[in-house]
Amino acid sequence: MIRGLVQGVGFRPFICRLATLYDLKGEVDNRANGVMINVEGEEEKILEFRDHILKSPPAASQIKSVEIRQQDIAGYKSFSIGTSKSGESEITEISPDIAVCPECLEDLQNDSNRIDYPFINCTNCGPRFTIVEELPYDRHKTSMKDFTMCNDCASEYSDILNRRFHAQPVACNSCGPLFTYEEQGVRLQGINSILAAVTCRIMEGKAVAIKGLGGYHLLCNALDDYAVKELRLRKHRDAKPFAVMFRDIFSLEEYCLVNPAEYHELLSWRRPILILKQRKSLAPSVSNGLGTIGAVLPYMPFHYLLFSRLETTAVVLTSGNISDEPLITDDNMARESLQPVAGAILSYNREIVNRADDSVMRIIGNRNSLIRRSRGFVPSPVDLACNVNGILALGAEQKNTFSIGKDKQAIMSQYIGDLKNQPTYEFYIESIDRFKKLFRFKPGFLVCDLHPDYLSTVHAHDLENELNIPLIKVQHHHAHIASCMAEYHLDEKVIGISMDGTGYGTDGNTWGGEFMIADLKEFSRFSYFDYVPLPGGNKAVEEPWRMAYSYLYKYFKDELNYNKIPCFKSVKTDEMLLLREMIDKKINSPLSSGAGRLFDAVSAILGLCSVASFDSEAPMRLESAIVDETDDLYPYETGNTVIFAETFQAVLNDLGSKDISLISAKFHNTVAEAIANVSEKMRGETSINKVVLSGGVFQNKYLTERVTGNLRKREFEVFTNRQVPSNDGGISLGQLIIASKIMGLCV
Ligand code: ZN
Ligand code: FE
Repeated sequence: MIRGLVQGVGFRPFICRLATLYDLKGEVDNRANGVMINVEGEEEKILEFRDHILKSPPAASQIKSVEIRQQDIAGYKSFSIGTSKSGESEITEISPDIAVCPECLEDLQNDSNRIDYPFINCTNCGPRFTIVEELPYDRHKTSMKDFTMCNDCASEYSDILNRRFHAQPVACNSCGPLFTYEEQGVRLQGINSILAAVTCRIMEGKAVAIKGLGGYHLLCNALDDYAVKELRLRKHRDAKPFAVMFRDIFSLEEYCLVNPAEYHELLSWRRPILILKQRKSLAPSVSNGLGTIGAVLPYMPFHYLLFSRLETTAVVLTSGNISDEPLITDDNMARESLQPVAGAILSYNREIVNRADDSVMRIIGNRNSLIRRSRGFVPSPVDLACNVNGILALGAEQKNTFSIGKDKQAIMSQYIGDLKNQPTYEFYIESIDRFKKLFRFKPGFLVCDLHPDYLSTVHAHDLENELNIPLIKVQHHHAHIASCMAEYHLDEKVIGISMDGTGYGTDGNTWGGEFMIADLKEFSRFSYFDYVPLPGGNKAVEEPWRMAYSYLYKYFKDELNYNKIPCFKSVKTDEMLLLREMIDKKINSPLSSGAGRLFDAVSAILGLCSVASFDSEAPMRLESAIVDETDDLYPYETGNTVIFAETFQAVLNDLGSKDISLISAKFHNTVAEAIANVSEKMRGETSINKVVLSGGVFQNKYLTERVTGNLRKREFEVFTNRQVPSNDGGISLGQLIIASKIMGLCV
């Protein structure tokens, strides 16, 4: 019995072919959550067969456990794939979408039915989650149901020894989905004329909207600054870096620095976007001076076809949406909204059932750190040590995901987005319903954030009333810490350090620079970053110069000549006075310990970002300002809280005389040192040696590598998120496990 992700990934045909190879008889069939293999033959051959399975299973499969038992000889005559046992209805694992495999790429050139066929796939590759409507994963329950297989495809589909045996989306040039290109009322079909039109358009500096696996993308030439600027303008996206798809790993390495861990992820079947250090600049407007490139390699057959014709080696591949709305998946909506932006649309006649953005990852300290978990990852479950069955965790507000509990597994939704956006909120509600249906899930418990105004909290209350089931509320940073503990099966008291932007605290203040002694049930706040006012509330998040003022005014009041600090020079005197009055009179100035805000303030003071044009711009610019590393740092104070008065004084002293790169590095080192220092105090009082780091600020590579380095030098055991994002996209997992513990499901 083999358990894990072994269904819908070509596992049974693989076993069947392998058994034939080793001259074994028997059968293989699907059971609930696993595959059962019965084999008879020479013992030596059986052992080789087993080793072969474990050593090189199908690319997208994930073997979690193997159970081997001796049985009486049944006298099998051959090896076959058995009809699925009744357990099939319980099968809950659905594979994520898989990048096109090397064999299919070869078929793209040689298989007469599939020459240049952009939807080629087999049991080892192709769409999965994005086309499935219901379980079990079978063609008639996917959006392939509208396409009747031709005789050739049908015979491959039913031939056990064929690579396309039971490949649900199997199709070819004569029976499968087709692309249609539309530009100014002209419609093109036929892949060659489409490719000619698209390449021509891209090389002319224009954009095209292209229907991808999980939604539409907008493409343009990443080496043509005019084209990129024009796309930015039309997309109303001021400064946020665009992701870039490269022709192949060689052209990617021309522009990006790639280490072995990054190389591995770039080429994996999940094909995420990797945030890489830039080696050579693309069109300047792609990354807007950030010094990093969000790079991805082709994953759909169409991408390969396109690059085989394109002269440019890199195209911008950004989400086809309007500002922060969800990725467009609907063809009519694309015509309406993306036609004006791109001027041309390439669509195909198969429905995208489940929206999935491209996943985004960064390698930090040689480990995966997910920034956005979606295509290629969802709906792979996260295995837990706890029973979480029946729990629905509603997540946070920004970068929302929700999670459902199935026995000891958490199934986390794809990246949903910011719920404050109305269409995103609708996507959220729709997806919760979809997951309930897809995974035959009926919530028995609810868990949400402590923040009373989060729309996920509001929805939790609605569900509580509607379903009449218990609702638990979890503090935001406790959930961050628990999300990481869940991944590592930690169920004990740990030192939990959550460096984050914002989150509702138990004292009603906005938290985010938190040191807690936490387990899966409760936490106590040991220390935190000094509170500062957020003058203007959310406005202070959008305008980092306000944070700069808030910190400096808190620490130095009128001792400073604010007009001499560059970031205030462009601010009107009345605006400064107003800000000061808001702080003094405590008008719309909630208190915050958010680490993100500290980074905002320093970034503004260094003149890197005084008004943010996208989320986390100021901290990202601050990090990317670091050119050379140093071990120098600034003074700081730790008492009940961590106080940065001396840090700011020293930054101001360095400003103007030292390199911005050096100041930024020293500042990062200071925060990293403060974190290690407080951890030591916590260990001193509690003897706890495990440190769990989570929260969006840990997506800062420089900071996280410093912090983990500092902690390991002091012989701490350090844990960081790997399977789920450390930002708010991971909150729902933390909520799930805390709820399980509080409800007594986890023993
Ligand atoms: Zn394939
Ligand atoms: Fe958070």
